[in-house]
Amino acid sequence: MTNLAAFLENSARAHPDRTAIVFGDTRLTYPQVDGAANQVANLLVSRGIEPGDKVALSCPNLPYFTIVYFGILKAGATVVPLNVLLKGREVAYHLGDSDAKAYFAFQGTPDLSIGAEAYDGFQAAEGCEHFFVITADPAAPSPIEGTETLGQGVADQPATFEGVEVDDEDTAVILYTSGTTGQPKGAELRHRNMRDNALSGEVLFGANAEDADTYLCVLPLFHSFGQSVIQNGGFAYGGTIVMLPRFEARPALQLMLEEKVTFFAGVPTMYWGLLGALDDSVDVKAIADNLRIAVAGGAALPVEVHHEFEKRFGVTILEGYGLSETSPVASFSRLGESVRVGSIGTPIPGVEMKLIEPETWDDVDPAIDPDGNPAIGEIAIKGHNVMKGYYKRPDATAEAINEDGWFRSGDLARRDADGWYYIVDRSKDMIIRGGFNVYPREVEEVLLTHPAISLAAVIGVPHQSHGEEVKAFVILKPDARATPDEIIEWSKEQMAAYKYPRVVEIVDSLPMTATGKILKRELS
Ligand code: AMP
Repeated sequence: MTNLAAFLENSARAHPDRTAIVFGDTRLTYPQVDGAANQVANLLVSRGIEPGDKVALSCPNLPYFTIVYFGILKAGATVVPLNVLLKGREVAYHLGDSDAKAYFAFQGTPDLSIGAEAYDGFQAAEGCEHFFVITADPAAPSPIEGTETLGQGVADQPATFEGVEVDDEDTAVILYTSGTTGQPKGAELRHRNMRDNALSGEVLFGANAEDADTYLCVLPLFHSFGQSVIQNGGFAYGGTIVMLPRFEARPALQLMLEEKVTFFAGVPTMYWGLLGALDDSVDVKAIADNLRIAVAGGAALPVEVHHEFEKRFGVTILEGYGLSETSPVASFSRLGESVRVGSIGTPIPGVEMKLIEPETWDDVDPAIDPDGNPAIGEIAIKGHNVMKGYYKRPDATAEAINEDGWFRSGDLARRDADGWYYIVDRSKDMIIRGGFNVYPREVEEVLLTHPAISLAAVIGVPHQSHGEEVKAFVILKPDARATPDEIIEWSKEQMAAYKYPRVVEIVDSLPMTATGKILKRELS
């Protein structure tokens, strides 16, 4: 198996009666999804798209995302999934940067104008020749004047396709890395990178085709976590993917119940959202009875959330870690292991991790530091999951991956004596207050133990004499009361003098990325 699309083709052959995707009242079998993807591949070939060409895709979690994704791969082209929140100007940048030749975009919704922004970007981009609007109803005309719909494009295309040969080393997907880090760069991921990552589901989660899982897909599929762990991991083992275009706790819980979801994956704010939505009307026991696996990643899972979820659902959360650049999974806690709460587990099979000095790349001596804690270093990763590089950016690639193939992550961590890793923070989020390093995550974990605090985000703000000051944004629990001064006084008792937040702001919500990660750079 070389082409990543073989996951879909093999499952269509092996499990012709299985439901591959559930979306609202729509249920598509594997052969139906495969046939529709073949039509997309035929459409692309008919328009002159050749192996190695780049094809962009802006689509929320709908069956169309998966159909177009695998159609592009079948044609031997590279998928460039774009965040659906991008504005026209940003779309133009991504299309131009990735050299996209064709672009599929969902028409949008009343509150999210994906199609209009996409078309603006398409018109402003040079070199992108084909634009297809994905309409909710494939028979409907295009809502954007002068454009062709996916439905029109595939109308005369056969549902069979003669596969295109690709090489393991060819680029399957270019993922633009999360908006939480400066200028977006395209991480080039090979067919083998994406394939091997999805196949780690067997060892990590006990995934298998006989007893295939039903996945709730609330993580956006354009981001690496949902794409690899849910979509590709699900298809690799003939699973059923229940899609929800946007995470909302109530509908998510309802779908978990109705569709007997066995596999839930989310970023920590989703777990927080699910727990916050539990009341007497939710049949937690019935949901918990079906739930086999709960995985978290993308951001640090607060210890309090981990414990609360386990208490309510009886399932321990397996926390993993990775980046778009590492397909994404690099480490995980495994099913059946005695999970160490607060840890991102150990490297997945075929992947090595170590801690390095950020400046020199020297290995960090894992010995105990003067405070009695294992030393902190930057996580470096090597193995089948590491990207080819940043598309057309040899300098950025050389900064990120050294001659020995080690990729530096920008994340600081400790490792315990048994080799389990614990994320301390992203190196760029570290606050330096009066010469002392303060790790926001540590302060956030403490704040979450305050009886009135439901969610916390800690950042550094400029300060005349200390360089930076520690500031906390907190969301209170429903009906709880606390003032910033009380929280500051309480924090003073809990944390060393250089760490506790001197500024606290109580807010109703926090800015988040489309994936659900807290967008700290928008806080000040
Ligand atoms: P992205 O490229 O959008 O997938 O973001 C990758 C970043 O997410 C990493 O560099 C980490 O900073 C963060 N991340 C992923 N998983 C975890 C985790 N389990 N704990 C803490 N941070 C995480």
